[in-house]
Amino acid sequence: MRPFEIKIYPDPVLKQVSEPVADIDSGVTDFIGGLVATLKSTPGVGVAAPQVGRLLRIIAVDVTPKEPGRGLVVLINPVIISSTGSKKVREGCLSVPEYTANIQRAEEVVVRGLDPNGKEVEIDSKGLEAIAFQHEIDHLDGILFLDRITNMKRDLFRRKMKSL
Ligand SMILES: [Zn+2]
Repeated sequence: MRPFEIKIYPDPVLKQVSEPVADIDSGVTDFIGGLVATLKSTPGVGVAAPQVGRLLRIIAVDVTPKEPGRGLVVLINPVIISSTGSKKVREGCLSVPEYTANIQRAEEVVVRGLDPNGKEVEIDSKGLEAIAFQHEIDHLDGILFLDRITNMKRDLFRRKMKSL
């Protein structure tokens, strides 16, 4: 499956609210294949459907390139059903390549959704994976990490771009 092109801020699709997936048909299954290929083609730890221009509630998260974990998780219609703790973390986003920022997030979350086979799953998550779930689920509601910065002057950082 070929990776999709990542939509870059301020593309208006990034500010829209995604629709729940009603039926996991072959079109959705094919799309998930492309979304996973997209994630693997980047240095990121997660991607959400609106980042490739599809307003569907689907995310893919895999933090194992950066820390030990369970590996790839694809969730359809994901919802955070509980969250505990609070910490500030430095975040970036494939759709906002020039910046990183300090964001306040829950330390642990429980996420419920459907796996690619339509089976309901509940995932207890902490560490970087919990942060990635919160970040990707935000994308489904048209929220970017930029929207969660409380103090731009203190918490927004321009990424040092590698010279070409
Ligand atoms: Zn993002």
